[in-house]
Amino acid sequence: MASDLHFHVHVAAPTLEVGTPPVPRGFPAVASPVSSTLIAGDHDAVLVDTPWSHEHMAALIDWVDSFDRNLTAVYITHGHGDHWFGTPALLEHHPNAKVYATADVSAYIARQHKHRGSMWESRFPGQICQGQINPEPVPDGGISLEGNALQVVELGHTDTDDTTGLWVPSIRLLVAGDSVYNHCHQYLNEAAHGGLESWYRALDIIQALDPVYVVAGHKDVAQPDDGGAVERTRKYLQTFEQLTREEGQTREEFFDEMIRLFPGYANPKALWRSIVSAVA
Ligand SMILES: [Zn+2]
Repeated sequence: MASDLHFHVHVAAPTLEVGTPPVPRGFPAVASPVSSTLIAGDHDAVLVDTPWSHEHMAALIDWVDSFDRNLTAVYITHGHGDHWFGTPALLEHHPNAKVYATADVSAYIARQHKHRGSMWESRFPGQICQGQINPEPVPDGGISLEGNALQVVELGHTDTDDTTGLWVPSIRLLVAGDSVYNHCHQYLNEAAHGGLESWYRALDIIQALDPVYVVAGHKDVAQPDDGGAVERTRKYLQTFEQLTREEGQTREEFFDEMIRLFPGYANPKALWRSIVSAVA
């Protein structure tokens, strides 16, 4: 008989960037808070995504150990380094854990590894975990956890290419990676050329699963992991799209309007960068 599963979410705190242009209204330039999800059975557990800095990983490893489970697998939802750079550090403590990703995500990880210096070290000098990973493809039928099958959901382009989620049918949990954000400004710099249409389709796929719990890849630590974040992610995209079409509006006015409509969302820097890339 399959074990009852439980899940727990760790959120790595936002980290200050250096050397990047200022954000309007004095908001700090930080990296978004990033989530990791532990899916636990009676004895074993599977972790989805790891954060990226030495400091984050020290906290995450203590947190994983606090559940006293045998970590059998780590699943990486997509290739952005902030969701996997810490995995080698985790494997030093859990050498028997297998690392899984889809073939497309594994190829993305190899590319991201090459750009670690130019894209990450420059903004967070000395803080980025080192080391490469070579994930295995997920077995047919999914990742096994005490008689439960954890299933990959391919979501295509959302905040980047080839994103996925991990679906846990027995508890109706979707660990959504960056296809869903929860009270956090969304990274839209890669949204050109139909990216938003693809993101809306991903949200349709998620809603068709009818999840009870959804863990967003980037979230405000105080927010619950319920399905409401899916519709809020859609609303954010629709609003951003509408404001992109407004004429005679400055980037700063666009920014202020989004801040007014989505008050208290984490990481206004992500919004500002999205506006800079979307509006000439
Ligand atoms: Zn991300």
